[in-house]
Amino acid sequence: GHGIAVFTSGGDSQGMNAAVRAVVRMGIYLGCKVYFIKEGYQGMVDGGENIAEANWAAVSSIIHRGGTVIGSARCMDFKERWGRLKAAENLVKRGITNLVVIGGDGSLTGANLFRVEWSSLLDELLQTGKITNEERQKNKSLHIAGMVGSIDNDFCGTDMTIGTDSALHRIIEAIDAIVSTAYSHQRTFIMEVMGRHCGYLALISGVVTEADYVFIPESPPPTDWARKLCDKLMQASYLAVVAALASEADYVFIPEDPVKTDWKDHLCKKLLQERSSGQRLNIIIVAEGATDREGNPITAEMVKKVVVDELAQDTRITVLGHVQRGGNPSAFDRVLGCRMGAEAVMALMEATDDTEPCVVSLDGNQAVRVPLMECVERTQAVAKAMSEKKFDLAVELRGRS
Ligand code: ATP
Repeated sequence: GHGIAVFTSGGDSQGMNAAVRAVVRMGIYLGCKVYFIKEGYQGMVDGGENIAEANWAAVSSIIHRGGTVIGSARCMDFKERWGRLKAAENLVKRGITNLVVIGGDGSLTGANLFRVEWSSLLDELLQTGKITNEERQKNKSLHIAGMVGSIDNDFCGTDMTIGTDSALHRIIEAIDAIVSTAYSHQRTFIMEVMGRHCGYLALISGVVTEADYVFIPESPPPTDWARKLCDKLMQASYLAVVAALASEADYVFIPEDPVKTDWKDHLCKKLLQERSSGQRLNIIIVAEGATDREGNPITAEMVKKVVVDELAQDTRITVLGHVQRGGNPSAFDRVLGCRMGAEAVMALMEATDDTEPCVVSLDGNQAVRVPLMECVERTQAVAKAMSEKKFDLAVELRGRS
């Protein structure tokens, strides 16, 4: 009897399809009517064919595909009350009182606001004759379960977000390919990877590709700070293997000097030291939002200029861009999507009228439910700390609770 709708919102990521599939099949298995909402909140506001009932076969052959087959969008209308009013009408007309939202912190914030307003939206729809009193009663509370799809792994409250692992695979494939050509010509390559506020992709790809230097938004941090960050990042069991590898390695993968904002000197010394010990190439990874300790941006172009001017090394830049979001999801992201999707449906089925919205997250390799707004608020507090250049605070807040 329960109506559940699933939608993807904000930036896409690999593994979202696995999550959508799991929601549909778990929902049907438990006897619910399950709907797709296409194109995120825009489809919810526009209604019509954007909201369609799903069946078992509709989610066949999507688990291996990147992106999201039901479409994602940014939607200004949903940020306005009139947009949410239209969305509520579209849901009530179909008896949908459970939403599974797969997106980033913005999408989850929107879902929470929608739930908070739900009764007043229904009152307004009743008063204006858009819905009947019976419909008002039948759909009186809205339940929300969220999942985070993001390649940046930038959400507080989960060890991993859906898509991060696949993006890492794409990055390391690209770096491995670059290494073979760099070796032949004794070149230095600067790889720009995604991560506007979070250095996770840059840091981990640096660890597993033996990069010589990594620039991340939170940095350059002191070594113990880096180790602390790594400890936090590596709590998921399979990442512990990576951590073990990293601690064996005898190079510094992030700058260790906490005060010196002159990273240039430090970088040059490190590159020279590598070459003089017999290395034929250097790899430097720059996260999109990399900064120095004072918060000034460090771009791939700036790094290249330093390497060319100071060391006269043959230096090239590769910007990975949207390649990182593309391609098939990894086994990890498929499993993560499946587990989270199933857990989200379970959470909705167990919800009572006063159950707070949850995000399904990964904690020590277990799919668990955590309070949605608490995680969103912490994630936003990290973003604020980052924008205020309070890097230590950002790292502190980002760590698991
Ligand atoms: P990503 O991290 O990939 O950017 P996101 O979910 O944070 O994902 P946003 O663009 O912030 O992406 O949000 C996606 C959509 O969610 C918005 O286009 C809007 O429709 C809705 N949304 C975001 N914030 C709010 C809000 N405060 N109130 C209502 N709706 C919102």
